[in-house]
Order: sequence, then structure tokens, then C-alpha cells
Amino acid sequence: MEIFDVAVIGAGPAGCMAALRAAQLNKEVILLERNDKIGRKLLLTGQGRCNFTNIASLKVFLEMFGKRGSFYRDVFYKFSNYDLIDYFQSRGLGYKVEDSGRVFPITEKSKTVVDILKKDLDELQVKILYNFRLKYLNKDSGIFQLSSTKNQLIKAHNVIIATGGASYKSTGSSGDGFKFAESLGHHITKLTPGGVPLLVEEEWVFQRKGVTLERVGMSIEYDGKIKHLPRGNLLLTHFGISGPVILDMSHMIVEIIDIYEDLKLNIDFKPEINQESLETQLMEDFQIYSKKSLKNYLKQHLPQSLIEPILQTVSLDPQKKLNQITKKDRLKLIKTLKSLQLTIIDNLPLDKALVTCGGVSKKQIDPRTMESKLVKNLYFAGEIISGCGRRGGYNLQQAFSTGYVAGESASGKK
Ligand SMILES: Cc1cc2nc3c(=O)[nH]c(=O)nc-3n(C[C@H](O)[C@H](O)[C@H](O)COP(=O)(O)OP(=O)(O)OC[C@H]3O[C@@H](n4cnc5c(N)ncnc54)[C@H](O)[C@@H]3O)c2cc1C
Repeated sequence: MEIFDVAVIGAGPAGCMAALRAAQLNKEVILLERNDKIGRKLLLTGQGRCNFTNIASLKVFLEMFGKRGSFYRDVFYKFSNYDLIDYFQSRGLGYKVEDSGRVFPITEKSKTVVDILKKDLDELQVKILYNFRLKYLNKDSGIFQLSSTKNQLIKAHNVIIATGGASYKSTGSSGDGFKFAESLGHHITKLTPGGVPLLVEEEWVFQRKGVTLERVGMSIEYDGKIKHLPRGNLLLTHFGISGPVILDMSHMIVEIIDIYEDLKLNIDFKPEINQESLETQLMEDFQIYSKKSLKNYLKQHLPQSLIEPILQTVSLDPQKKLNQITKKDRLKLIKTLKSLQLTIIDNLPLDKALVTCGGVSKKQIDPRTMESKLVKNLYFAGEIISGCGRRGGYNLQQAFSTGYVAGESASGKK
């Protein structure tokens, strides 16, 4: 029975890049994928447009992966964002840069990225076994044995586990890799969702689903403490809240949800001015536009469709004329505009998260090679590694970079 030089489990971006790199280095490579095609999750990325990397500096890249981000210093250096851009460019795919340095293929179609990977895999004659769902992985006398749910058996000298995380399970990433890693002695850190929307209590939010509150200030209040979030857009949904800031900060919020029950989101509709200036402005406006109704006046401060529900929640009459507003009402209004509170009750489950934040402990992986520190010739690549990056193309770059380095190391080029 043939013993492959390298077996790669999972044909997402990490696994494909790992297989490609090993094949470029003339290794006999087999890529095992449970689906009948490669890159199913990759197709969904960037809402089908594939935000595959970011033009940020290495320093920013490391920051985007949080406390233990420096783990990726070597891999992002060995296969950087510009190396990835060059990789696609040299295969005829240009790129465009959007806000916050996000990089997309010029076609704005994830499929073109997947097609390039597939063409390259074919050209380098990587053997791909589709519909092969790995069930057991073990090592005997220095050789890995990989058996599928249908009892197919593969043998290899080196194995790269690139099975992704445990979100969007329908794409194939159902967390199998964690079990293989664990069975070989690795510690799996707590699997928490990253980039996940939040559930709130207030029903008026659900009724205004689809409305975006633009450039609002936000803070999280819990246990007498306040954590300020970056200013940005807040999207109301049929269950709660989402949008770039919430998705980016959700890993932090998820940690607090587990501990504290009184979690609030404060929304500041007027982040550019402080409370005193807003009060002065309202007092002047109330005199100038004294005959206007509160509802009409507030169009300059709030999205129109939110005026009535918000006024209702704070028991202010939308039809009241400005010259009838008492000081108490005015103060209530200022509080509403500066810190409208929503009650956060939970986050959507892991399956709805953009990434899985836990995984194989980084302490057990050599950051220069992606090799396990416990099992020789076993490597990890992509989302299966503990931790997660922010939105903005950082996670896909992590998958491609760790894949590249794992493929290279598994080929003996360490
Ligand atoms: C909706 C959505 C949008 C996203 N958009 C972006 C974006 O624009 N930019 C960005 O940087 N990141 C984005 N991400 C995150 C990004 O998709 C992941 O970080 C990335 O796909 C991880 O790559 P991976 O190769 O490690 O794992 P995956 O892409 O999850 O691939 C793992 C592969 O392993 C296979 N597999 C699993 N178990 C087995 C098994 N037992 N046997 C055989 N095969 C198996 C799976 O079928 C799958 O093909 C997004 C995620 C989601 C869900």
C-alpha cells in the first residue's frame, strides 16, 4: 500500500495551500475532503466576495489576533499578505483594496479564488479524495494511518490537520479535527464563537430589523463597569444586533455574558458632541422650532423609523410640541440620545459565528513550523488552531499562511 509523503485533512484555504506547497516541493501529497468539492466555506466568505487578506502591517496583523497574536510572527513573515496577493496575481487574478485595508479579488467573487486553488492543485497533481470523512487518525511505527467513516485507509509519513473550526457546520467544518488532535494528546481550548451577533430583550429592535444605526458610539455596561467599543454601524436584526463593531467585539462580549447577567449595550446617537453641548443645542432648537412636534424634530437626530418606538420605550409622546416639553422630558431625551440601553441576553450559537475562537492550544504547536510539539510529523493549519482574528481578511490570511508553512515544514523544509 502506497505511503504518501504528506496527507492533508480538509480542503479549505489552509488545507489547499498546505497541499499546494508540499506538492511544489515535489512531495507525494493526498488531500482528504469530506465534501464533494474544495473550499465550501471559502465560497461564503466576504458575502461571496472573499475578503482574502488585508494590507495592514505585520504589527497590526499580530494585534488582530489578540493576546497571543505574536504566535503568528514567523508564519506571517514567511508567507505574508503581499505574498498571498502575488500568488493570486501571478495566476491572473488582480485585487482591490477597500476600507480598513480589506483586500478582495478584482472579480469580487470567491469562486475565482476557489477555482485558482483547484486549478493549481490539478496542475501539481495533488491527489484529492472527495467524500472522505476522516474518522480515526493514529500513528504506528512512525506511520500515520487515516481511516474514513467508510473504512477507506490511507497511510502517510506526515499529516497536516486543516479541518477548520466548528461554525457553519453545513460547510463541512463540524469540529472533527479537535477530536483527532485530542486523541493524540493535545489540549483543546474552550470553543467560543468569534464574529457572532447578539440577542437582545427589546422587542422594538426586532420590529425594526434591517435598520442600520450609522456611526453610533457604543459601550458595554456590566457589574458597574463600562467598556467603550469603537464607533461604527449597528445593525438591528430580527433577534437582536449585529454589524461590524458587534461582530468584531463579540468574542469579548461573549466572555462577559457567561459571567454577568446584567449586560447592557449603551447606544450614543450623538457621539460627536458631549451631553452639555447637546443640552444647549436642544434648548436653542426647542425655542426656534417651538411649534414642531417632537417626532418631526427628532428626524435630525435619529433614523426616522426608530423615532416612535424609541420614544415609546422612554414614555415620551411623539406628538408633543417642542414648546410643551418639560425640563424633565428634555433630560430624558438627552439621556436617550446619548445612551439608549439595550439588554443583551445571549449570543447566537457557535454554528452562526464567523470563526471559532478556541482550538488546539498554541502552546503545543511550534510557531516556526506549525508542527505539534507532542507528535512528530503532525502539523496544524488554519482555524483549528486556538484563537481567532478580527474581521478584515485576517482569518483567511492566517489559514493561507499557516497552510503554506505547514506544507513546507511537512516536506522537510524547516
Ligand atoms: C459566512 C462566513 C464569512 C467569512 N468571511 C471571511 C472573510 O471575508 N475574510 C476572512 O478572512 N475570513 C472570513 N471568514 C472566516 C474564514 O472562512 C475561515 O477562517 C477559514 O475558512 C478557515 O479556513 P480553514 O481552511 O482553516 O477551514 P475551513 O475553511 O473551515 O475548511 C476546513 C475543511 O475541512 C473539511 N473537513 C472537516 N472535517 C473533516 C473530516 N473529518 N474529514 C475530511 N475533511 C474534513 C471541511 O469540509 C472543510 O472543507 C468567514 C467565515 C464565515 C462562516
